[in-house]
Amino acid sequence: MKDGSVFKKIINKEIPASIVYQDKRVTAFEDIKPKAPIHILIVPNIFIASSNDINKKNKNILAHMFYIAINIAKEKKISEEGYKIIINCNKNGGQEINYLHMHLLGGKKINSLF
Ligand code: AMP
Repeated sequence: MKDGSVFKKIINKEIPASIVYQDKRVTAFEDIKPKAPIHILIVPNIFIASSNDINKKNKNILAHMFYIAINIAKEKKISEEGYKIIINCNKNGGQEINYLHMHLLGGKKINSLF
C-alpha cells in the first residue's frame, strides 16, 4: 500500500489538487485518475489509516464524510440519477493509499459487484 502522506499534503495545500470542499473536519478533492465523470475523494483531516482504525472516539467522522459526499453529489447534480459511495479497506478491499478515504462516483452507471 502507498504512503498516505500524499493526502495529508493535499489537505495542508502543500501539493496541488482540485479541492471541492474543505472544513475543519474533512477535505474533498477530485481523484487524480477519475473512474467516472464525477470521482471525488472525501478524507478526514486527521490521519486515520483505514476503516479498521475507526473506533468509539472517532466514529462520528464517518457520518460527516457521508453527509459531505451526499451534499457534493447534490451540488454536482448527480443525486437524482444516482451515485456510488465506496470505502476500500486493505489488500482484499483494494485500498491503495494508506489514509481512510471515501470515493464518490457518478455521472454514469457505475458497475456493481451485486
Ligand atoms: P484506493 O484504491 O481506494 O486506495 O483509492 C486511492 C485513490 O486515490 C485512487 O483512485 C487514486 O487515483 C487516488 N489518488 C492517488 N493519488 C492522488 C492524488 N495525488 N490526488 C488525487 N487522487 C489521488
